[in-house]
Amino acid sequence: MSSEKNKDTKGVLQVKKHRKKKLSVEDLTYGVLNGDKAILARAITIVESTKNEDLKKAYALIENCLSKESKSIRIGITGVPGVGKSTFIEIFGKTLTSLGKKVAVLAVDPTSTLSKGSILGDKTRMQELVKDPNAFIRPSPSGESLGGVARKTRETVILCEAAGFDIVLIETVGVGQSETAVHSMVDFFLLLKLAGAGDELQGIKRGIMEMADAIVINKAEGDNLKRAQLAKVEFERALQLYPPKENGWNPMVSTCSAIENKGIIEIWEMIVQFLDTTKDSGYFEKNRQNQNKFWLMQTIDELLKQQFYRTSAVKENLESMLKKVAEDKISPFRAAEVLMVGYKKELK
Ligand code: GDP
Repeated sequence: MSSEKNKDTKGVLQVKKHRKKKLSVEDLTYGVLNGDKAILARAITIVESTKNEDLKKAYALIENCLSKESKSIRIGITGVPGVGKSTFIEIFGKTLTSLGKKVAVLAVDPTSTLSKGSILGDKTRMQELVKDPNAFIRPSPSGESLGGVARKTRETVILCEAAGFDIVLIETVGVGQSETAVHSMVDFFLLLKLAGAGDELQGIKRGIMEMADAIVINKAEGDNLKRAQLAKVEFERALQLYPPKENGWNPMVSTCSAIENKGIIEIWEMIVQFLDTTKDSGYFEKNRQNQNKFWLMQTIDELLKQQFYRTSAVKENLESMLKKVAEDKISPFRAAEVLMVGYKKELK
């Protein structure tokens, strides 16, 4: 496992010591609550596992960690590939650790199984932050469905917070549905953009603009600085057309250069301002409660679906039903009903 290989010497020794035996839930809980990064990594592996024996362990572990009060902040970071997410997270993470914060970096990338880790899987990314004793970096879990990947990441957030990480950064690729999933598990959602030749507002999906609490235009240096500043004005103007956000926060637009470490601390200051506003209004707490409810419903959906598709009656008949539906031999509703009957019979 790549993240274990990157541990500091102490961590490596601890991993070696523990690798010999399977750790009990008590050992894992103890290690996590003591902020042991090597044990945290192992605990996450159990949460990510699909083995039945691990599932039980994972439930107990999460429960032990849930009760620990945490004052953490969860920040989602998105943007298209190449916008500079990992460069940004590296410098932003270093800035936060230099302020005495403990930072965990996670990712939600349901495509990573196909592309063998398109985000955070590459060891050359975030080389400085990896070495920082106050940072913990974990690549995206693999999984067949976004729901599964997102659920595991959410549980990993709980473990990281129990281990004393006060800021959790969750990176996601700026394509597809994963942004919505990450938005539903963070307190603050940051969209990284590039200044383009007038295409800023066309290339961006409206939904993502609406989700963003901040739009940050990266690579704002040198020849690009002017264009970035123009893009900033354009985004500010566009944002004015949106209805006010439920959280009472007016999304901010700023520019930065991750490579030159410019405008980075200002982003943190903006987030602090956001936290003050939303904590005062009660929105922060309410949002977390709503997110928990949302994830309960999501998980039920996910588990029910899994159970349904795993029954042999469904496995055996789905293909032929799909064919019949395509040929108009049976209506989709009727076909679904037939499959449901088979599924229910097997449950008994
Ligand atoms: P990601 O795919 O969004 O994670 O993007 P990366 O962090 O891998 O960055 C993509 C490329 O943009 C790399 O070559 C980075 O060195 C470069 N890059 C990132 N941030 C900046 C920046 O602030 N300025 C400039 N000029 N290049 C940057």
